[in-house]
Amino acid sequence: MRIDKMLANLGFGSRKEVKKLLKDGAVTVNDKAVKDPKQHVDPEKDVVMLNGAVIEYKEFVYLMMNKPPGVLSATEDTRDETVIDLLQLEDQVYEPFPVGRLDKDTEGLLLITNDGQLAHRLLSPKKHVPKTYFAVIEGEVTEEDAAAFRKGVTLDDGYHTKPGELKILKSGLMSDIELTITEGKFHQVKRMFQAVGKRVVYLKRLTMGPLKLDETLELGEYRELTDEEIEMLM
Ligand code: URA
Repeated sequence: MRIDKMLANLGFGSRKEVKKLLKDGAVTVNDKAVKDPKQHVDPEKDVVMLNGAVIEYKEFVYLMMNKPPGVLSATEDTRDETVIDLLQLEDQVYEPFPVGRLDKDTEGLLLITNDGQLAHRLLSPKKHVPKTYFAVIEGEVTEEDAAAFRKGVTLDDGYHTKPGELKILKSGLMSDIELTITEGKFHQVKRMFQAVGKRVVYLKRLTMGPLKLDETLELGEYRELTDEEIEMLM
């Protein structure tokens, strides 16, 4: 990869700005100053430094966000703020996108990456990746609802869902539940409750496959996945 492209991709400036950094002798490759923007580097092997600090280049970025309500799970939108707008600029240079969608009012675990293959694997209906949600439901959630979810319920468009595992945490006028499903139909959790005559008033995703929401992340905060988390997803 050309050194100017690598530096520009990493957010160190436009190609023109990067060219100036090179001309000023701010960049070294394996301890030798490099002034030619066309110089090729191997980001995996060569040690590139800018003003004496090593620059790490990686092909993929893997971020976990605690999605806040009111923000779209999309890369861009003319009206609403998106989860990508919430990222620091240096993370945006990787051109990441959210893996799957959470509704605008849904909170919780959202994986954001530029690894298209991983996204495809996690979203493929054939893989049945389990996702667990915490929800507050208006009305009393019962063991009959849990039994109905175990068999799958028929949504408003006639689709019969795969089995879902419903755990009732608290039942009352407002109920707290956890629901694990292995598909991702549009508004699926809300529509499954609608199918048993109940309404979701709060929804938060807790897990996606082996990935668990880091509860230390405030709404709107995000962090890179750890090596272990990335490994689990591969
Ligand atoms: N199910 C829903 O209804 N909404 C979401 O955002 C995710 C799952």
